[in-house]
Amino acid sequence: MKRKKATLSKKSAVTQACRKCNGKCCRYYALQIDTPTDWDEFDDIRWYLSHEDTSVFVEDGKWYLDVHTKCRYLSEMDYHCLNYELRPHICRKYDTDGCDLTGDGYEYEMQFTDDKQMEEYMRIKFGQKVFEKLEAKKAKRAR
Ligand code: SF4
Ligand code: SF4
Repeated sequence: MKRKKATLSKKSAVTQACRKCNGKCCRYYALQIDTPTDWDEFDDIRWYLSHEDTSVFVEDGKWYLDVHTKCRYLSEMDYHCLNYELRPHICRKYDTDGCDLTGDGYEYEMQFTDDKQMEEYMRIKFGQKVFEKLEAKKAKRAR
């Protein structure tokens, strides 16, 4: 199923499917981010994931930040776009073919829904040692 990403899309027209939908594709946005290569870059992603309503996924080898926040123009009364005539290009390009409602789910290579998941991944990837400094600092502060 296609995900709405910054390089992509959104509603081209209100279709039959859209009439039955609560605007799933207007409730998040996903941005491609640099593929992390070292501890600091993975740690930056751990920081993204410390924020609520945020996840990170990998698809076709590319990393994306997924921000789960509703567009301010999505009406909660009838799920129509309140900025339809002036909606951005990305919204005009998106269609219902395999969209968030009609598609059959995402096939991520990886998905992280919070910082703890990333922390575990980093422990496996880089070894326990890389967190020892941070944990030592935390212990010192607690004294
Ligand atoms: S998720 Fe699909 S059906 Fe729902 S509003 Fe978006 S394009 Fe229409
Ligand atoms: S501008 Fe309209 S179509 Fe685009 S995300 Fe917002 S509510 Fe949806």
